[in-house]
Amino acid sequence: MSKFHPDPNSPVIAVADVWRTYRAGTHQEVHALRGVSLTIEQPCVVAVKGRSGSGKTTLLNCVGGLDKPTRGKIAVFGQELTHLGDSALTRLRRQWVGFIFQSFGLNPSFSAAENVDIMLRIAGASNRECRERTQFCLDLVGLTKWRNHRPDELSGGQQQRIAIARSLANRPKLLLADEPTGDLDTATTRDILSLFRKIVQEEHLTILLSSHDPLVDDYVDRVLHLQDGEFVES
Ligand code: ADP
Ligand code: MG
Repeated sequence: MSKFHPDPNSPVIAVADVWRTYRAGTHQEVHALRGVSLTIEQPCVVAVKGRSGSGKTTLLNCVGGLDKPTRGKIAVFGQELTHLGDSALTRLRRQWVGFIFQSFGLNPSFSAAENVDIMLRIAGASNRECRERTQFCLDLVGLTKWRNHRPDELSGGQQQRIAIARSLANRPKLLLADEPTGDLDTATTRDILSLFRKIVQEEHLTILLSSHDPLVDDYVDRVLHLQDGEFVES
């Protein structure tokens, strides 16, 4: 196992010729990624766009250490992921990377504040840190007034804001957002994309999001197009 030493001054993401092949049967293989390369040097918002099945989720999962490439290399903040063991990958996900999903993935019986607070508790934060950081994250996403509401008492956009606040709790330097606006209407999609811009400015982190919505082009620094597991020119 290699050592765990990410460095905030290294490139955020360096993906080099990554392939991910799924075995779909004894003799069948699906090449979800076919030699994908991507470097992100500085904090910014990058969108990976492409039709359903083009490999967006596979790419995000590989970058976040939830899945492993079949071939090729991925480094996050200079930390090569390929040879990391499970405990190092867990640390990476807990301390450096935040995740946001289309389905929000909130705990339905927790309030907005409790959904954020639990992430800090799992990471071992003190009571005071939990209180202050939860407050800060809810303020940042504009949910201060709704802190004691449960997800089912809030709109889809508000639920996604809880998920964003939760993903920011442990001060990640990279947010991976898989179709974060997939279930939202146009106006709410614009609100959430504006919020991403604000977060990048205020928290100095990078957001890599996937989408197939033409709207995202107005809000991101860079748009990449995936087609059948390969990046193509738009
Ligand atoms: P997207 O997120 O762009 O819709 P995915 O990364 O989910 O694309 O999927 C890319 C390709 O890999 C698709 O053809 C999909 O069917 C296939 N695929 C994804 N996950 C699996 C899996 N666990 N087993 C087999 N094939 C998979
Ligand atoms: Mg997907």
